[in-house]
Amino acid sequence: MALIYCRECGKQISDQAFTCPFCGCPMGNGNPNQQVSVFDPNRSKYDWLTTLLLCFFLGCFGIHNFYTGKTGIGVAQLLTCGGCGIWALIDFIMIIVGSFRDGEGKVVSNK
Ligand SMILES: [Zn+2]
Repeated sequence: MALIYCRECGKQISDQAFTCPFCGCPMGNGNPNQQVSVFDPNRSKYDWLTTLLLCFFLGCFGIHNFYTGKTGIGVAQLLTCGGCGIWALIDFIMIIVGSFRDGEGKVVSNK
């Protein structure tokens, strides 16, 4: 039996515990490494790095919006040349800080 730290209250508890005995937060299977990869339904299915690179190299053509399913915005950026680069730059920053959303309204995240 190993000891791990509760991710809520930080106290040392058994890795066999289903819930923390101090704060009562659920520990899942007790393995902190597996908890990180839990599927997040709010996370986009599109790859963050691919979106970032598409925006960097082809942002003026709105390609990153086509890639993430935002065809309408992609066409608008294509016609305006990425809002003369400003729009593409804003999207680029949004992608870096993890605020860029795909066509389903889900966050394109690198986490
Ligand atoms: Zn706790």
